[in-house]
Amino acid sequence: MRYALFSDVHSNLEALNAVLEEIQREKPDKILCLGDLIGYGPNPNKCVQRVREVADLVLAGNHDYASLGKANIFNFNYYARMAIEWTIKELSEDSQKYLAALPLMEEIGDFTLVHATPKDPAEWDYIMNLDDALENFGYFKGQLCFVGHSHIPVIIVQTDDNCWATREMEIRIEEGKRYIINIGSVGQPRDLDPRACYGVFDSERKTFQLKRVPYDINLTQEKMRQVGLPEFLIDRLGYGQ
Ligand code: ZN
Repeated sequence: MRYALFSDVHSNLEALNAVLEEIQREKPDKILCLGDLIGYGPNPNKCVQRVREVADLVLAGNHDYASLGKANIFNFNYYARMAIEWTIKELSEDSQKYLAALPLMEEIGDFTLVHATPKDPAEWDYIMNLDDALENFGYFKGQLCFVGHSHIPVIIVQTDDNCWATREMEIRIEEGKRYIINIGSVGQPRDLDPRACYGVFDSERKTFQLKRVPYDINLTQEKMRQVGLPEFLIDRLGYGQ
């Protein structure tokens, strides 16, 4: 099976459509979304609708929860909070109902999918270093766990006596190793590459590839300006930070 995986769309319709065009060209067997459909960007309802149309499985992220009053908004930074408050006013009842029904974590065959951490999906902690990763390797059964949340793509590999991180764009999934793979962000990359990000996992060929897709950043920024979203959030899309 070939799976296309993406996460952290954050109401960025131009980035989402660019990624979905690429994905549709690749014709994967399944399309999986790891959450945070909304927050930060100007098109929450359209993004919810698009993801809903195309994805076979969609998880909830912290911004999805926050927009429903299910995650504490005071844990958010000032700009994220402003964007969530704007999003709450924009979200249709239909979008709210859809987001409210999303699961936090799923297992498919030998891999686990979760927005933040397998250890405690609703705490919205980040896996930011090897210590965080080592702890989390104890909380999923299979060989792989795919996560989003930090918007920084990275592959963390564990063997019996070692653990390391790699930024390779393509890896082979090898026997005797376990992996936590952050698939980056579609709508607000933070690894200094402003292009949208997604992954392709081939469970037969045992490969994982990270892909980058350019999109019309100026158009998204213009839309954000028109609806009065914070300048800081508009600027950061241009730097991928
Ligand atoms: Zn996010």
